[in-house]
Amino acid sequence: MPSIERARKPLRQIPGGPAGRSGEAGGVEELLSRLRAARSVFVLTGSGISSDSGLPTFRGAGGLWRDERVEELASPEGFARDPVLVWTWYNERNAAHRRANPSAGHYALAALEDRVPDFTLATQNVDSLHKRAGSRNLLELHGNLREARCTGCSQRRTLDALGLPLSEIEHACGGRMRPDIVWFGEALPRDAWEAATAAAARADVILVVGTSAVVYPAAALATHYNAGAFVAEINPEATAISERVDCALRGTAAGVLPSIVQSL
Ligand code: NAD
Repeated sequence: MPSIERARKPLRQIPGGPAGRSGEAGGVEELLSRLRAARSVFVLTGSGISSDSGLPTFRGAGGLWRDERVEELASPEGFARDPVLVWTWYNERNAAHRRANPSAGHYALAALEDRVPDFTLATQNVDSLHKRAGSRNLLELHGNLREARCTGCSQRRTLDALGLPLSEIEHACGGRMRPDIVWFGEALPRDAWEAATAAAARADVILVVGTSAVVYPAAALATHYNAGAFVAEINPEATAISERVDCALRGTAAGVLPSIVQSL
């Protein structure tokens, strides 16, 4: 069974981590000055930014849904074992995403994009809240829950508020309709991954927001592709990368990001 800490594809490891990181956290003033001077900014977000919109994080919910481990539901093996159970979970999530609204953190990142010449936002979230907040150069690393696609013939269909009717999981071609998202154990979409690593590599500032930084390869974007960028983490709790960032701001995305963007 895939584990959440295990890399989903081989990583380009930089032994010893990126050079130039002291491990000592700088302050918000230095982040503001780096952002004002930045030509290129890369942002990596995780489910924490959407918890301000009322959506549960995986770890925050205890990693369980109806006593099922979410890593097992969100996997090819889990889908093969019980596609009705998996779609019941995704249909509930789809409905919750639609009831939720983007938070002040999502909107602040959309506003930041307007101020930076080269801005890329890569998200691990599948809830479409960045898109709804107006982010344009957006890479959905783990796909999204706006569509289903057939495992046999790759036919797609848009999901509405009800998600996928359970009677339509089995497709006429003999395949099964599945959510258009990346499951544990699957590779990320090549185009989105290459665009994200290139954006991380050329960034002057990297913001890491609302992710525990344990799901690879997405977590590697924070610290493995650019030894020279100023890396700031925005998260109420310490994470797997906190020792390696230049600035750790301990607060919620909705609490911290708007004041940063307004101060630029
Ligand atoms: P995670 O559950 O591992 O970590 C969430 C992080 O967010 C934690 O570090 C937590 O301290 C932080 N956090 C909690 N509230 C916050 C807030 N208000 N502001 C800022 N940070 C806050 O989530 P992850 O790192 O995104 O990785 C888990 C996987 O779960 C990803 O693959 C992602 O695709 C998936 N996921 C997506 C959604 C979604 O689309 N909304 C929801 C749950 C899980």
